[in-house]
Amino acid sequence: MIGFIPLKGFDMSEYILTLDQGTTSSRAIIFNKKGQIVQMAQQEFQQIYPKPAWVEHDPMEIFSSQASVAASAISKAGINGRNIAAIGITNQRETTIVWDRKTGEPLYNAIVWQDRRTAEYCNSLKEKYSGLIQQKTGLVLDAYFSASKIKWILDNVDGARERAKRGELCFGTVDSWLMAKFTNLRLHATDVSNASRTMLFNIHTQSWDDDLLALFDIPKSMLPEVKASSEIYSQTATTLFASKIPIAGVAGDQQAALFGQMCTEPGMLKTTYGTGCFMVMNTGESPAMSQNNLLTTIAWKIGNKTTYALEGSVFMGGATIQWLRDELGIISDASQSESLAQSVKDNGDVYMVPAMVGLGAPYWDQSARGCIVGLTRGSSRAHIVRAALESIAYQVGDIVAAKIADTGIHVNEMRVDGGAVANNFLMQYQADILNAKVIRPQVLETTALGAAYLAGLAVGYWDDLDSIKALWQAEREFNADMSEDIRLAYSKKWHQAVERAKGWSE
Ligand code: ADP
Repeated sequence: MIGFIPLKGFDMSEYILTLDQGTTSSRAIIFNKKGQIVQMAQQEFQQIYPKPAWVEHDPMEIFSSQASVAASAISKAGINGRNIAAIGITNQRETTIVWDRKTGEPLYNAIVWQDRRTAEYCNSLKEKYSGLIQQKTGLVLDAYFSASKIKWILDNVDGARERAKRGELCFGTVDSWLMAKFTNLRLHATDVSNASRTMLFNIHTQSWDDDLLALFDIPKSMLPEVKASSEIYSQTATTLFASKIPIAGVAGDQQAALFGQMCTEPGMLKTTYGTGCFMVMNTGESPAMSQNNLLTTIAWKIGNKTTYALEGSVFMGGATIQWLRDELGIISDASQSESLAQSVKDNGDVYMVPAMVGLGAPYWDQSARGCIVGLTRGSSRAHIVRAALESIAYQVGDIVAAKIADTGIHVNEMRVDGGAVANNFLMQYQADILNAKVIRPQVLETTALGAAYLAGLAVGYWDDLDSIKALWQAEREFNADMSEDIRLAYSKKWHQAVERAKGWSE
């Protein structure tokens, strides 16, 4: 019998493709077996603001932009679908889409996580249900999450609720939507990490929660099947890639980044320094419930093992530096902040609290507003810029402290990614304030990398977790170099400044 003899040295499936569907752009990144980026493509899409505080995306544009960057990355790499061993998907979380099960037609635009139209409704539930919701879902009752957005669509689109009751509608977060579209509507599924951001998913039983579905009046038939983060979900339809490719890894963006940073042991944590800062800590196989207003979430499920995480975010991270550039005009680009901060020996006792949109975890004070305190005749723009960078480190430090209080786990090191980690002053100051090592990896596209790892593991592209861990490499480590006395004195001043920012717009 004549068998198929593979060409020597030529592996037909050499790459993993990640679809990274973010809030402002769709990206496709192709990784090789070493976890290096081979090629990428990116496309921004329209942000729709129908009313103040409403934010929508066109689901068709989410899909078409994602399909187009995938095709573009593949063609720029000079390969084709047969060279892709698996697809990983990572996505903006919580954003809510409802579509017709048969036709795939969306009923309404995607309601984006930032959208506040259901804030008042959520506030009305707070007194009675916030404890129940936190206990079941790990989340703080808020309009960010999908539940109240689904309800809004059912209540406000003509005929939607009747159609939902008849089982004609599907709800999905962006991962579900993309999978439905990439499989010609054969698949209606999500992974545990995305499900855990809907505020309808019981993170203890890992199933859709009947009490919460009743509370939000959402028929169960609308909800996707919940799968592991690393398993073969389905093959893509051939209309797009001309060959079937398994979709095999799915995780929400922050969870994917935690995996991409290989924070696979309890106590390991990463912070992404973008517009805001997102810190996520692996807390192991059982959920750590927060006493300090952090979110408990599912990080991923691989095989039958579920890993949980604690999460906290800072609203104004890199955005503080944008504000210095665009509103104050005291720097011309973000990178200039580093040399200016280093041009003075310390902050000259100037502190900035960038509470321009209130304060997030662990303070959760919506009425806080920004302030700069401690100004003297000798204060210069360098001091202000330095205070702005320091404020990012202090805010992240406050979340780490909350995590330590919740888990009792001491933090020795933190892995970092995102645009602002290019700033060496900020990274060193962060290490000093945490009294821990800050590690910047070689591949900063950790979100996309995490989804690629999840997909590659499922199809045997990588043998096991150990072989992936061996790929992760630090680019630079920042070691703490500040005395205990000074750290405590600075932190005390920072917290005094925070007190001055709190409650300002009440
Ligand atoms: P996002 O994904 O949220 O759009 P990015 O990860 O692309 O954000 O990071 C962009 C942010 O990082 C911006 O807010 C910018 O001000 C900040 N940033 C970029 N470079 C630096 C730098 N060298 N120093 C400080 N902040 C920076």
